[in-house]
Amino acid sequence: MVFAPDTEVALRTVVNLINTAANGREGLASIADLDSFLATEGFSGSRSRDEAELASVHQLRVELAAVWTADEDAAVGTVNRLLRDASALPQLMKHDGWDWHLHATAPGAPLADRMSTEAAMALADVIRSKEMERLRMCESEDCDAAVLDLSRNRSKRYCDTGNCANRAHVAAYRARQAAAG
Ligand SMILES: [Zn+2]
Ligand SMILES: [Zn+2]
Repeated sequence: MVFAPDTEVALRTVVNLINTAANGREGLASIADLDSFLATEGFSGSRSRDEAELASVHQLRVELAAVWTADEDAAVGTVNRLLRDASALPQLMKHDGWDWHLHATAPGAPLADRMSTEAAMALADVIRSKEMERLRMCESEDCDAAVLDLSRNRSKRYCDTGNCANRAHVAAYRARQAAAG
């Protein structure tokens, strides 16, 4: 484990959220899409389940995606602004089978505020641990997905959307065969 368990869970949710818009697709086109995304991520709490909520999550996604290519100062600016905008107040919580973890918003706060503070708290961990290099873009040529590298030896190069890692292996294999033939 590189970060605290709740930080890693939150970062995985952030990268999955960013990648719902990777490579020109829209994985959160409807409220139902958002429902299933949140269910998959185990993200509970109150919802308004309307278009405004969906739009606020789209907006948050854009801001978080920018952090993946931002330098440290810009990332700090985003994190601090997200925490300020949601009036974040960190509290340790235990619920739904999760052990102690930080919440920075009340359970009844708007979804995008709860998502943004969770993301911002996790990114604050990354930044102050000097680990921003773990936030990268996929190295596959035709892919613009975000990569979260939580491997001990920092070896993750390809995203988890589609088959980038597989495609890279196949391409390398074919190149070797062509060279041999
Ligand atoms: Zn929680
Ligand atoms: Zn990729």
